[in-house]
Amino acid sequence: MSALLSIRGLSAGYGGADALDDVSLDLAAGETVALLGANGAGKSTLLKALIGLVPARGELRLDGADLGGLATEARVRRGIGYVPEGRRVFPGMSVRDNLEVAGRSAARDRAQDVERVFALFPDLAFKSRESAWRLSGGQQQMLSLGRALMGRPRLLLLDEPSLGLSPKLADELFAAVRNIAETGTAVLLAEQSAARALTVAPRAVLLRLGRVVGDGLAAAVSEQALHAAFFGG
Ligand code: ATP
Repeated sequence: MSALLSIRGLSAGYGGADALDDVSLDLAAGETVALLGANGAGKSTLLKALIGLVPARGELRLDGADLGGLATEARVRRGIGYVPEGRRVFPGMSVRDNLEVAGRSAARDRAQDVERVFALFPDLAFKSRESAWRLSGGQQQMLSLGRALMGRPRLLLLDEPSLGLSPKLADELFAAVRNIAETGTAVLLAEQSAARALTVAPRAVLLRLGRVVGDGLAAAVSEQALHAAFFGG
């Protein structure tokens, strides 16, 4: 079976040394994969390279089509959704408008997409007319995720969605991620909290210093491999 996402020999950096070094990785349609690694391992850089926010060398394909050289907007149109670290929403806009402006489909479909997000996050439905700045941190994270879903992605890139959330809210958010995955959307979930990520992802990829140091079924990822990815050795 051909991969939904295929990454070959991807390197990326910020002018100096590469933050990603020769990363190769495949994701099947509908697959959920946890991208694990310590602070600075390169998780965010990999997601940014995939969505086109960081220039990268190497090969990048979605459903066989080359993404190299495409701008972020074009990658979103091809079916990649991206939820950056830190809850990017438009604070002055209502919850509903935040979702509407993220939609790409015709008005009628867009209304359906908004309803789908509200079904996934009932808290947002209750606050649909409120300005986004009035939402709690957890609700803003849900809105940020909802905005990415408005593009009807086949692949969703999530950068540390649980960062700064209470354990209860993080659980809620991960339950929503599980629901999204069950609808057939592939998810690449960058997380520092391995334990939590592995509750939704059957497979884990371990990054350390910009390189893939482990890739396998979550159940088979040993404590030792995790320890090595996070602390070296
Ligand atoms: P975190 O949990 O901190 O987000 P991460 O695994 O996502 O960690 P990255 O943010 O991808 O790691 O960082 C990888 C490397 O790239 C680190 O050495 C980091 O210092 C460096 N880096 C990240 N962003 C920039 C930037 N804008 N300019 C220069 N270097 C950067």
